Amino acid sequence: MTKIIAPKGTKDLFKPEILKWQFLEARIRQFFSRFLFQEIRTPIFEHSELFQKGIGSETEVVQKEMYTFRDKANRSITLRPENTPSVVRAIMENNLLTEIFPVRFFYIGPMFRYDKPQKGRFRQFHQFGVEIFGEASAEVDAELIFSAFGFLNEVNIEDIEIYINSVGCPQCRPRFLPELQAAAQKQQNELCPDCQRKISTNPLRIFDCKKQQCIDISNQFPKITDYLCQDCHDHFQVVQRTLSTFEVPFISNPRLVRGLDYYTRTVFEITSGQLGAQDALLGGGRYDHLFQELGGKDIPATGFAAGIERIILHLDEIPETKTSIIFIAYQNAALKTEAIKLSAYLRKKGLPVFMDYNARNIKKQFKKSDRVGAAFTFILGEDEIANQSISVKNMKTTEQIQIKREDLDQWLRKHM
Ligand SMILES: [Zn+2]
Ligand SMILES: [Zn+2]
Repeated sequence: MTKIIAPKGTKDLFKPEILKWQFLEARIRQFFSRFLFQEIRTPIFEHSELFQKGIGSETEVVQKEMYTFRDKANRSITLRPENTPSVVRAIMENNLLTEIFPVRFFYIGPMFRYDKPQKGRFRQFHQFGVEIFGEASAEVDAELIFSAFGFLNEVNIEDIEIYINSVGCPQCRPRFLPELQAAAQKQQNELCPDCQRKISTNPLRIFDCKKQQCIDISNQFPKITDYLCQDCHDHFQVVQRTLSTFEVPFISNPRLVRGLDYYTRTVFEITSGQLGAQDALLGGGRYDHLFQELGGKDIPATGFAAGIERIILHLDEIPETKTSIIFIAYQNAALKTEAIKLSAYLRKKGLPVFMDYNARNIKKQFKKSDRVGAAFTFILGEDEIANQSISVKNMKTTEQIQIKREDLDQWLRKHM
């Protein structure tokens, strides 16, 4: 029989790497509560329409990367490629805008994209992200970037760069697009086939192209920041000013447009020098019209998503927190029941306990005790049962003492 292996682009997590995941997840919960974010969990699959509408049908994600399939009732279902459209849907569906204040959520969980697997990039990958709803001011965008920057600092990721831009709004972006299209048209033949197609469908996406020839050409294209309306211009100024107040270093990059269609005004990305040209650790921006696009009221919103696998690549080894383990050894099979009773007693007290139900002799049990890293081995033999006691061996010092059963609790309080 051929062995069944994990699908391409997925991975199993266990010690020691999982310690980094546990560390990171705990820090996320802790850190973002300072900004009054609460956790939200949405389904891993949704109706495909949510992502087609929410992300934009011309985007790379929707066109090439979604895991979409028919369920048994012939509904089109998609494994979420990102979480923002789901969070917006959940908020509308559950009326959270009126019931929770402030409407600030964080999430942690797996996302799915049919992408080419490479270092730090998987088909089942994990993101954490935050979303803020109903807060339109530019200071909130700056606060969001401050929180992202602060978090990466908190988990000791250094050497990071923050890029920001404004992609305008439905008033000013349409003024920019024809100018961009005209410039792209002039150099159409030098652009890659993908970018040639984007000229008419979605010219902003040309800035996403990773091919050097396209980057060189699009560097000469008009800049969106030169076409912002007064409101968008002012908004962007306040974002930058407030970032300085927060003492967040940033680089204004007019090429930054992000791969999703729903952004308005502020967009940002944080990359790490350590990863080189690898994709961003984290990115996000304002998306003031996504609610409307998905059939709701016009609610301002802003947020970001971070790649957990990419952040994990930067984390130092996390030392395992050692708890003192008790191993229970018994001299012969007749004493197994007594040993099980003792294990139950200790576990009810909240102590980590291990024993071997198939133990053949005491020597083998000491070996097992060593392998699980026990601090103490409790030994039950005929003698111990007869005089109602337990022999306790300190595995480090190899010192062995006998304690009365009635003194066990006192001993535990002192040593465990
Ligand atoms: Zn505008
Ligand atoms: Zn291109």
